[in-house]
Amino acid sequence: MATILVIGGNFAGLTSALEIKRRLHDDRHRVIVVSNRENFLFVPSLIWVPFREREIEDISLPLRPILESHGIEFVHATATKIDAVNNRVETTAGDFLYDYLVIATGPALDYSLPGLGPKTGYTQCVCTPNDALAIREHFDRLVENPGPVVIGAAPAAGCTGAAYEFLFNFEYNLRKRGVRDRVELTWITPEPFLGHFGIGGMAGATSLLRKFMDSLHIHYIENAELVEVTPNEIILADGRRLPFVFSMIMPPFLGQDVIRNSPGIGNAKGYVPVHDTYQHKTYSNIFAAGIAIDVPAPFVTPIAIGVPKTGFPADEAGKTVGENIAKLVNDKIDLKSRPFVKIPGLCVMDAGHKEVIIVSNHLMKPREFAAILPNPLYDEGKRLFEKYFLWKTKHGYSNLP
Ligand SMILES: Cc1cc2nc3c(=O)[nH]c(=O)nc-3n(C[C@H](O)[C@H](O)[C@H](O)COP(=O)(O)OP(=O)(O)OC[C@H]3O[C@@H](n4cnc5c(N)ncnc54)[C@H](O)[C@@H]3O)c2cc1C
Repeated sequence: MATILVIGGNFAGLTSALEIKRRLHDDRHRVIVVSNRENFLFVPSLIWVPFREREIEDISLPLRPILESHGIEFVHATATKIDAVNNRVETTAGDFLYDYLVIATGPALDYSLPGLGPKTGYTQCVCTPNDALAIREHFDRLVENPGPVVIGAAPAAGCTGAAYEFLFNFEYNLRKRGVRDRVELTWITPEPFLGHFGIGGMAGATSLLRKFMDSLHIHYIENAELVEVTPNEIILADGRRLPFVFSMIMPPFLGQDVIRNSPGIGNAKGYVPVHDTYQHKTYSNIFAAGIAIDVPAPFVTPIAIGVPKTGFPADEAGKTVGENIAKLVNDKIDLKSRPFVKIPGLCVMDAGHKEVIIVSNHLMKPREFAAILPNPLYDEGKRLFEKYFLWKTKHGYSNLP
């Protein structure tokens, strides 16, 4: 009987675990999820937390009941080291042996740039519950005492799309609070042009975003190479200094410590190199999904841009991992191949209570079809999707889209 250990219990980890269990049809196989968070968190809705449109409880679900009702064991612990030679994972709750391992640990935030980050520097971040909550106080102070604001992404930032969403929601909420005319708002991005998004761009995106920025009176700087942040200035490589009283900058992402502390598992950035089957390139009984995998950028830009490993491909990769591990456990070798870059692109972007839908047949070029379209549902698509995804997750319906 096989033991399958999954590290991480959010998008990629939860989907992988549920799909492995669903496809195995034999309760004697053990599936164990080790997660350092007790809750599933619908990360995309963090962009609304700073503006009090969501509480963390609204977008969280306890993992244990979801997993246990599907016969999956849950361990609330941090995995600290993977010993791939002996099929063993060290965690803060003891060691676990495995026959198959899934690494779905998401991103660590890289604040090594001087002055970057809420704890080590002077910029805020919307990527974690605590940091998103902390922005509330900064926003209130800005409304009382308006001044210049810089929002954007550092070179190699992990998720530029989320920074755009934060920008437009920020702008909308400044208007709502009646102080927009007293805030000089600047967007900085390492993208060579607006709307590159780390996926090479798509027809119509750049002109749409430039028009949008102009109509909202947001200054923007493309090819911005942030090099340092002081308590009140953003400094770019070309010498420009942008004063701010509030700044939110999306940092670069790295793989988690558990990968970086485990020789042979990840690359220099802590990402796991995988085949198109999501199987580790060296260890065939180790799989990875979601942000934890290495996806080399299929383009070159003057300033480095991170490849966005978003929720839809994380979920799709989790499904492929589930299918492939179930096959291997049942002695089948015809593994499913689903190259990350060919997964369809599907994202609803909240541009400040107006939405655009980004859709393509492949995430990365070459593509036969790619479009950025205003949402006919105006601003309800993303909110409805959140409700749907939380419902599907609560019931463990991992096979649904
Ligand atoms: C602000 C923001 C907005 C976003 N908006 C969108 C959007 O609109 N659409 C979209 O498609 N994508 C969006 N994304 C991206 C999306 O959130 C990610 O693609 C998705 O979360 C990736 O899933 P994952 O499972 O790989 O990683 P995560 O969701 O980060 O999950 C990793 C899990 O592993 C756990 N973990 C980490 N290390 C360990 C360890 N050592 N031991 C045990 N557990 C560990 C973590 O606590 C976490 O629960 C957004 C991201 C951010 C930050």
